[in-house]
Amino acid sequence: MTSVSEEVVCYWFFKATISGLARVEASFGTVPGVSFFHPDMSTAEEIVTADQPTCFPHTRAEALRAWEEFRPRVAAYADARNGVRPGHQAVSRLSPAIRRRLVTEYELIASTLEKQPFWRVEKFVQEMMWRRYWKSWLELRPAVWSDYLTDVTRLRGELRGYQAKRVKEIEAGHSGVEIMDYFADELRTTGYLHNHARMWFAGWWIHTEKLPWQLGADFFYRHLLDADPAANTLSWRWVAGLQTQGKTYLTRRSNLEKYVEPALLAAHAGGLDQLEDKLAHAVRVQESGIYRAEVPADASDTALPDDLPARTGLWVHADDLNPESAVPLAGQSFQSVFAGLDANILQAEGLSLQRQEHLRAGLADAATRAGEHFQAPVQRGEDAPLPEALIAWAKARDLQAVIALRPAVGPLHTLTTVVRERLAKANIALHLVWRPEDAETLPFAQAGYFAFWQGARAQLLGWESEPAADPTEKPQGKGKGKRRGNRHE
Ligand SMILES: Cc1cc2nc3c(=O)[nH]c(=O)nc-3n(C[C@H](O)[C@H](O)[C@H](O)COP(=O)(O)OP(=O)(O)OC[C@H]3O[C@@H](n4cnc5c(N)ncnc54)[C@H](O)[C@@H]3O)c2cc1C
Repeated sequence: MTSVSEEVVCYWFFKATISGLARVEASFGTVPGVSFFHPDMSTAEEIVTADQPTCFPHTRAEALRAWEEFRPRVAAYADARNGVRPGHQAVSRLSPAIRRRLVTEYELIASTLEKQPFWRVEKFVQEMMWRRYWKSWLELRPAVWSDYLTDVTRLRGELRGYQAKRVKEIEAGHSGVEIMDYFADELRTTGYLHNHARMWFAGWWIHTEKLPWQLGADFFYRHLLDADPAANTLSWRWVAGLQTQGKTYLTRRSNLEKYVEPALLAAHAGGLDQLEDKLAHAVRVQESGIYRAEVPADASDTALPDDLPARTGLWVHADDLNPESAVPLAGQSFQSVFAGLDANILQAEGLSLQRQEHLRAGLADAATRAGEHFQAPVQRGEDAPLPEALIAWAKARDLQAVIALRPAVGPLHTLTTVVRERLAKANIALHLVWRPEDAETLPFAQAGYFAFWQGARAQLLGWESEPAADPTEKPQGKGKGKRRGNRHE
């Protein structure tokens, strides 16, 4: 097992069919500044050269470099993005960096629009805003996340017999549907799956295998480097038919044949007959609760209080590893910075090693940047439960207040209640502040994506209404006012 010490981690992942048997192969090697490893094996059975590795930046500098490499391809994104082939060059693979905010959606959108007219890159901007939609939607209905967690615990305890066995087989990549086994192996090995593969896998899990969506979402959550309470939970709910009434996502053989690279599908054709189009029928999935949208009470906290005490510290956490770019914080000075991960979250049962390493590397990078930007001493903490480490730091520095960017609904957000109470006992105030851009899009997430997109787009681009068409450049029928449905393909 190799640890991540460089700034970028790449995986060469594919299955080669040798003598009729599909086998997982991984190749390792080093090139300057890049490390290659396969977390499940100390040696590969056979070293084979893959044409394109999949790389995931672990620092902001690397994420920006990866973005500069991808940016010229954004115009081709709309046409190329649905194809699934090893290396995933048609998509950005930036989701792990975006999830932790090593780079933000807003800066990537702004950077895209510097170089390209909106209509040419609309699809990419829309996909980035799907992320903001899911984040905003969950903020308005946090009980969807807590109910999901309760369901996972209950289902893990309840599942017996065939279903329990099947979950184990599928997660291990031994389902017998070879292309799904390939995706399960890819997920466990690299921590990444293409969007289309995520949709096929989830559709197959729920509607063909008839397994609870929550356990599939949990499998993804434990392994994805970009694992996100909103994007993951709500995408699984969307496939299950819970997000858009009357709409489910069904996995069909013809769709795989259209979008998976032919050689890849040919090498994993076993079991495809189970995905024949005529067999695709939606399972009716029960909702776990009644969810009404409510804008969170603290959504107006987009600036720091005027009367901050002199001894104020900054808490940098894994939900936003880029505090120096947040408007309310950028010009502030702090006595001290604490960059911490919660040992309990890091060591949660089944959390993959890649995810742990990705978090640690990202936090180390953020700690360095924050120390430099705010010209303050930095303390790291990740080997103890977060409340204890944070409170010990605040007391040792004799702080009167702690500031942090408000974590989104998820494990860290849940922890802030405990942190606030414990700090208050020591007479230390906790102020959580929203990035104003995040708070602004909340009201648009009351209903479906189309309404969100209309509102968020106008705000994002500073438009009062639809932009004027460019008659010299815009192809017929594209762009202006074109309505996109509630779909991810
Ligand atoms: C079942 C399922 C589970 C998912 N779980 C997650 C998750 O845990 N975390 C996560 O970030 N995304 C999740 N997604 C959304 C999407 O699959 C990934 O964001 C995308 O595949 C990341 O790859 P990329 O960075 O190469 O994307 P690109 O195609 O390059 O897109 C650029 C960015 O836009 C955002 N984005 C693109 N597509 C979507 C989408 N459909 N929904 C939300 N945001 C999107 C991501 O931030 C992405 O990095 C899930 C989708 C499905 C169907």
